[in-house]
Amino acid sequence: MKSLWNDEQAREYDDDLGLRVYTSRLLGQDPSLVLHGGGNTSVKIRETNILGQEETILYVKGSGWDLASIEREGFSPVRLDHLLALARLESLSDPQMVNELKTHMTRASAPTPSVEAILHATLPYKYVDHTHADAIVTITNTEGGADRIREIYGDEVVIVPYVMPGFDLARACARCFAEQAGPRTIGMVLLNHGIFSFGDDARQSYERMIALVDRAEHYLQRQGAWDLPAPEAVTDVHPHALELAELRARVSEAAGRPMIVRQSRDPLSTTFAARDDLEAISQQGPATPDHVIRTKRLPLLGRDVEAYVRAYTAYFEAHAPHAKDEKTMLDPAPRVILDRELGQLSVGKTARDAVIVEDIYRHTIEVILRAEALGGFRALPAQDIFDVEYWDLEQAKLRQGGKPPQFSGEIALVTGAASGIGKACVDALLAQGAAVVGLDVNPAITELHARPDYYGVVCDAADPEQLANALELGVRRFGGLDMLVINAGIFPGGRRIAELDLATWRKVMAVNLDGAMSLMSQAHPLLKRAPGGGRVVVIGSKNVPAPGPGAAAYSASKAALTQLARVAALEWGSDGIRVNVLHPDAVFDTGIWTEEVLASRAAHYGMTVEEYKTKNLLRTEVSSRDVAALAAALCGPLFAKTTAAQVPVDGGNERVI
Ligand code: ZN
Repeated sequence: MKSLWNDEQAREYDDDLGLRVYTSRLLGQDPSLVLHGGGNTSVKIRETNILGQEETILYVKGSGWDLASIEREGFSPVRLDHLLALARLESLSDPQMVNELKTHMTRASAPTPSVEAILHATLPYKYVDHTHADAIVTITNTEGGADRIREIYGDEVVIVPYVMPGFDLARACARCFAEQAGPRTIGMVLLNHGIFSFGDDARQSYERMIALVDRAEHYLQRQGAWDLPAPEAVTDVHPHALELAELRARVSEAAGRPMIVRQSRDPLSTTFAARDDLEAISQQGPATPDHVIRTKRLPLLGRDVEAYVRAYTAYFEAHAPHAKDEKTMLDPAPRVILDRELGQLSVGKTARDAVIVEDIYRHTIEVILRAEALGGFRALPAQDIFDVEYWDLEQAKLRQGGKPPQFSGEIALVTGAASGIGKACVDALLAQGAAVVGLDVNPAITELHARPDYYGVVCDAADPEQLANALELGVRRFGGLDMLVINAGIFPGGRRIAELDLATWRKVMAVNLDGAMSLMSQAHPLLKRAPGGGRVVVIGSKNVPAPGPGAAAYSASKAALTQLARVAALEWGSDGIRVNVLHPDAVFDTGIWTEEVLASRAAHYGMTVEEYKTKNLLRTEVSSRDVAALAAALCGPLFAKTTAAQVPVDGGNERVI
């Protein structure tokens, strides 16, 4: 592990808080130090308040901020004197502590200070850095972990036995510090939790953290516990879509809401999930209680979700009576599943949550494997982990954020998604919380969005094999399929029947009709397993109820597609799948309608472009966003009792009416 300090970069941050931002970000860049919002840092600064009085302010990481991307506003300014006075109390409940932290800040708009604020306050150094470094967690999760830490660091670190984060931990740290700290002390190791470093300036505190963790890594190397066993390459090519969708349906039922299930494809986790001794090494507990909120205490081995739920409920009942307050059981669905064939699966309420679970568990695997090589992984007792899982503050954090968006935990697939109506449908569904698989023959589809809830797959919508592959990939990424938006279609140049060649006709039918039939047929078993019922939206055309001359192939294909959707509604109603059709008209903000084409069509009718765009009863322009909003609404609760509907979105058209 190397210091990332760079004098030139550091010069851009010219004050104490700026340098705190800089080195916090340096820590945040290394996932073996902090992962997804873990860890916290602080700096103590003398300031003059509005009354002209001098006071010392502790700037400590605010909740909701990630060290990797923290800004100055991410640090909460709390009066140090008050924190030190609190530290002298005999006891302080979590809600009281949060109240004191919030009411003694000097900026009303600042985030809630870290629950480790009092701990930071009691350490008599200007800068304090705290991480959950993998190497430290690995060593302290073994038999005799404390002795190993003493052997590595001698009197350079204070050792604190495990105590749950909060006021009691702050007190325990202050006590251990008073007893053990000496002139050589540069850090503090919290067993089964992480490590603190401190110093007089930002660089010293940061570089002590790096040096301390580096020594732990070298210790693991000397003990032959650093290099992980070489994982086997992933060779499996069997389709998993149906098994995954089935498993997701049961996980979602256990959770009481649709969940995302993400399959990992890296050799490390796949090899781990197939180990013969998995039961022995994976069923002890997490690497640090800090992870338990995301991953739950134990992964599910295999696919018996119902047995997991029974065990989880029993675990709750066995440990809850000892908890300080009355607790409510969290949903009992697993968050990590290890299956010999399916590999590692990560479960989350959103695609982002599933990615976080995946990352955390990948680090857990490394910690377990190294701790095993060091003499045996020993997690904390179940009661300690339970106390964190049902910790008031953590539960409050989980409850934050209000009502989730309507498609949270659900998965949509949109064809023809790189532009126009398809692209607008992707945006509308993402905005309402769905994870979206976008298909298009245009390679730009893979770059449409860079976010964990979007997955673009290059796919020819007329090719059944490519469609099968895209469904397989989409289900491996998100776990299933709830909503299907059939939008891909081609419109050849206007041509009258007398001039229409069979090749053009067949090409239009292949994409607009055959491809849609193939996709619907292949998607049916997945939609059938959607926790909230499957939904299909077919993008038809005004040409179905009101065809125009010169568009025989297009109109006939869309009419047949509409009829296909009606039959699907008849056949799939008993599976809880709704199928509805939209008939848009004159949507001009799509790829085919360039400024020139628009101008020439308008001129053809003797109209201005504006008049041409709004030549409908309502005299309004219809955009692809309007169509997409309606497509999303058709998937939502407003249309929960509607199937086989055909809804125009055309500004009103006499011929359709
Ligand atoms: Zn911590």
